[in-house]
Amino acid sequence: MTKPSRRTIVTGGAGFLGSHLCERLIARGDHVTCVDDFSTGSEANIRHLLHNPRFAVIRQDVNLTLRLEADEIYNLACPASPVQYQNDPVQTVKTNVHGAINMLDLARATGAKIFQASTSEVYGDPEVHPQTEDYWGFVNPIGVRSCYDEGKRCAETLFFDYWRQYGVKIKVSRIFNTYGPRMHPQDGRVVSNFIVQALQNKDITIYGDGAQTRSFCYVSDLIDGILSFMDGDEAFIGPVNLGNPDEISVRDLAERICRMTGGTSGIIYKDLPGDDPRRRRPSIALAREKLGWQPTIHLDDGLAATIAYFRQVLFPPLGPG
Ligand code: NAD
Ligand code: UDP
Repeated sequence: MTKPSRRTIVTGGAGFLGSHLCERLIARGDHVTCVDDFSTGSEANIRHLLHNPRFAVIRQDVNLTLRLEADEIYNLACPASPVQYQNDPVQTVKTNVHGAINMLDLARATGAKIFQASTSEVYGDPEVHPQTEDYWGFVNPIGVRSCYDEGKRCAETLFFDYWRQYGVKIKVSRIFNTYGPRMHPQDGRVVSNFIVQALQNKDITIYGDGAQTRSFCYVSDLIDGILSFMDGDEAFIGPVNLGNPDEISVRDLAERICRMTGGTSGIIYKDLPGDDPRRRRPSIALAREKLGWQPTIHLDDGLAATIAYFRQVLFPPLGPG
């Protein structure tokens, strides 16, 4: 007898990462329900899945309770760009905390395994470099980034308490900066900003002196990591870092993108936003050991694919006639 296909819920499924995840889950045969309020996601991200009889969309805020049968839940709902999450910080905290409670209650009621998209932001402006999972972080509880950082920290707490108290099957991963096609051109993140500016020959906006670092993971590598974590040993619940350990300064990133797009942009310097972390790079030793996972896509290749995507979004080919 063939195994029945999994009933899978993806919150935030119309967003950048969520849409790639939905695509992969559909491809492996799951019945996927995307739950999204479309606050930062878009129908364009999932349009190619809408015709599929195994794909459904519920337009709903995760702060409202949801009752659905499920075998697996991937909890991704939450804006990821600092500009977006600071737009309505109270809603960001609610999404992280109430949303997590609602999804954990659903996992408890259905017996589903539940994945949490946590973040490198739980480490704040880290004093340990590279960041390992046993580092507790250096986080401002009352700053402009706190709605996200502390919201995600509280969500991790909830996940581990539901596991300890109710035996809910959890998986918590800390995702580091990820980029690729379907990032929103105006969402304010560094990779999308720089590429969009460069393709339009506008000035590249570096915040601060550009010496701050990040480590950028291409989206397909990240989705591979999430899926092998969810499908792997049930006893390994995380938290586990998922990201690319190749570190680059924001200034070097700007120069690289300018070179690759071949435009005429100059570089301008703007004020550094509040509490902007100075350095960020994951230790992925745990992911390597437990999941046999590591990123495979070099930054140049990932940027080339992302530039091609934004080129087509900004300058769509003219139709016939
Ligand atoms: P995104 O903004 O593209 O996607 C978020 C999705 O969640 C959107 O479709 C949005 O409409 C939806 N959403 C937001 N609030 C909601 C709510 N209250 N109810 C229902 N839907 C809601 O961001 P992304 O980059 O795809 O990030 C997805 C998840 O991964 C987030 O939880 C984010 O914190 C986490 N993450 C992402 C990165 C990254 O670099 N992309 C890094 C660390 C963590
Ligand atoms: N940044 C920048 N110019 C931009 C957008 C971002 O210099 O147009 C910087 C930002 O200050 C931060 C880094 O790039 O130091 C990464 O920013 P992003 O918003 O992508 O994500 P973060 O890692 O800060 O959450």
